[in-house]
Amino acid sequence: MRRCAALLAATITALGTAPAAAAPEVVVYSARNEQLIKPLFDAYTSKTGVGVRFITDKEGPLLARLQAEGANTPADVLVTVDAGNLWQAGEVGVLAAIDSPVLRANIPAQLRDPGDRWFGLSVRARPLVYSTDRVRAADLVSYEDLADPKWKGRLCLRTSKKVYNQSLVAMMLARLGEAETARVVGGWVTNLATEPFANDNQVMEAIDAGKCDVGIVNTYYFGRLAKERPGLKVAIAWPNQASSGVHVNVSGAGVTRHAKHPDEARQLLEWLSSAEAQGLFASLNLEYPANPAIAPDPAVAAWGSFKADPAHVADAGRLQAAAVMLMDRAGYR
Ligand code: FE
Repeated sequence: MRRCAALLAATITALGTAPAAAAPEVVVYSARNEQLIKPLFDAYTSKTGVGVRFITDKEGPLLARLQAEGANTPADVLVTVDAGNLWQAGEVGVLAAIDSPVLRANIPAQLRDPGDRWFGLSVRARPLVYSTDRVRAADLVSYEDLADPKWKGRLCLRTSKKVYNQSLVAMMLARLGEAETARVVGGWVTNLATEPFANDNQVMEAIDAGKCDVGIVNTYYFGRLAKERPGLKVAIAWPNQASSGVHVNVSGAGVTRHAKHPDEARQLLEWLSSAEAQGLFASLNLEYPANPAIAPDPAVAAWGSFKADPAHVADAGRLQAAAVMLMDRAGYR
């Protein structure tokens, strides 16, 4: 109880004092950084007069906070990254199913919860990256091929503790089954040039520095690093183009079970899925719009077009625990 009270006090402080007049508003808990969401919320408030108050934190603490606050939560909306995390939020019961023909029309079925509790709002791709000095793009075939002995001592990976890799392996489990996925992940571990890194940037930096030749990263990290370092000798290769397609994931949102402003919350999500907001939502983080009617930012489109894995991203959550166990058995740390 003491912990709950402390959390509530922290919430009230962080969110500030509500306006004296009962102006319409929505309260958002966001695992997406302030600079990626504030411009959207400001635009929404200008357009509708509905205020958006928000706090940002890591996805784990935000979910724990929603669970601890229960019915007392001030949050109307949870914004988070990765289908694994969205699925988890749905499973632990902090999200409400919302009936929205607008969201169903704007967001493809494979990018939203079949139970309507969460909706993808941007798409992130997790392709291969390689050394432009030491690898030919044509040599990069698939995630599975990175298990081949020809990559021995040449592969860099981010840690298996990161949900992005858990989701990648979970989707492989859904697609390839247990035995083949275990073979592939075991091959990756055998081929590692170094211990796994804490983040995607370090993977690309190691490739650039000649410590390894190939890795797996989310495209927006590549975009940021390539912008910072014009001479970066790392490029993107789109894997699985003759088979399942590039692994894609989402950032997304849902309305909380105990929302005090459920209608305003739904309307905000509907607007975020609209043509008006989708371009900005995606381009602020160099991602792809979830709404297929909207073209990606030119800087993102410049990386080339690709076939994406059409599988339902909910598999990333459904098979997350199995993926974590498989990676552990394979010695992927
Ligand atoms: Fe990220």
